[in-house]
Amino acid sequence: MGAGARVLIVGGGIGGLSAAVALRRAKIEVAVFERAGAIREIEAGVSLHATAQAALAAMGMNDALRRISGPPVQRFQLRSWKGRVLATVPHNAVTLHRRDLVLALANDLMADGVVHLGSQCTSFEHDEQGVTVRFADGREERGAVLVGADGIHSVVRTSSVGMTPLRYSGFASWRAMPTFDHPAVPENRSQVFLGRGARFGIFPSSVGRVYWFASRLAAAGESEERGARCRVATWFRGWSEPVQELIAATEEADVVGNDVYDRPPIKRWGTGRVTLLGDAAHAALPTLGQGAAQAIEDAAVLAHYLTHTPLADAGAVETALRAYEARRIPPTTAVINEAWRISRSYMWTNPLRCWARDTRLRLTPTRVWAARAAQREAPELLPDETATR
Ligand SMILES: Cc1cc2nc3c(=O)[nH]c(=O)nc-3n(C[C@H](O)[C@H](O)[C@H](O)COP(=O)(O)OP(=O)(O)OC[C@H]3O[C@@H](n4cnc5c(N)ncnc54)[C@H](O)[C@@H]3O)c2cc1C
Repeated sequence: MGAGARVLIVGGGIGGLSAAVALRRAKIEVAVFERAGAIREIEAGVSLHATAQAALAAMGMNDALRRISGPPVQRFQLRSWKGRVLATVPHNAVTLHRRDLVLALANDLMADGVVHLGSQCTSFEHDEQGVTVRFADGREERGAVLVGADGIHSVVRTSSVGMTPLRYSGFASWRAMPTFDHPAVPENRSQVFLGRGARFGIFPSSVGRVYWFASRLAAAGESEERGARCRVATWFRGWSEPVQELIAATEEADVVGNDVYDRPPIKRWGTGRVTLLGDAAHAALPTLGQGAAQAIEDAAVLAHYLTHTPLADAGAVETALRAYEARRIPPTTAVINEAWRISRSYMWTNPLRCWARDTRLRLTPTRVWAARAAQREAPELLPDETATR
């Protein structure tokens, strides 16, 4: 069967939709297969730093991004649970509602019939000529390239390069995004408060909404228990303002809880005409707030390498996909490793260790923070023509 020149994307989350938008901008035909019956996302925010913003701009999403995000946040503060400032890091990020982001990405794709809902991929095969993807309802689709953007439990990864075990972080996170106005939440500053075995983040977003997360040491499964808002309020009692006020401004039904896992990094994302993108390739702990951002950057870089690649030519496709992977594996591996390392110390419970951690954070010069942020958040990480398009 002929494969045509279509790129098949399994998964319609932030990663898969970004890849579809970026590839279409490069004039490549795509089809997205999402197992859910609708494009949806959880009631929570997502923070995107400068590189992810540049990647979205390169995909033609700049106006949409400005419309749905809050004003740029220029400072990120780490504080003790009592409110003492431990570090102020120069920053360039926007926070937006996850649902607004996926809907903005899906808008034209849905109108043009590119997204196929209710399409659960169960297996695939690939050969010199192309890829055949099979779905739970018995359908088959043929294309030139398969991109597995099907998240942390990726079926595409399991059948291509193999799955590594999930790693439980030891903590769970609860998130919400209420409307909130408070002098301790200026619109240009994000804040994360560190305690013993717990952390609370506050991110101003658009139209008066504030995204918060509460992370706490927990046994796996604890995040699913009912009454999350009351429990979070109890755990964080006595923390600096406006933590309690923000929890009180949140409806119980709007709190989303998750056990938090990652997967150790892998050295190979694909073979032949198949590759991976987003959490399917590099699920990291959310401590650096980088997972969705990295998926968006993957999408921009993948489109860069597939542009001008003759998709009928197996050798050319293989070269392009392996070049994409070589470019993306090092930075995403660094994010997984750093997020894991930092998460450990942010969840310490021993008072002496916590005091030593906070003192070290307080004594770290601003220029060191700025250099670390620049390493991860620089638009130069994208291929030249992508970053400046
Ligand atoms: C508590 C928490 C906070 C976070 N905060 C941030 C943040 O501030 N900033 C940030 O950048 N990142 C953040 N992240 C990470 C971010 O949420 C993820 O990295 C991102 O959502 C990954 O996107 P994805 O599209 O790769 O995967 P997913 O969002 O998991 O999407 C995968 C899609 O594939 C579909 N699918 C799965 N299997 C199949 C199949 N077999 N067939 C068809 N479709 C399938 C799913 O239905 C889903 O729609 C956070 C994560 C957590 C847990």
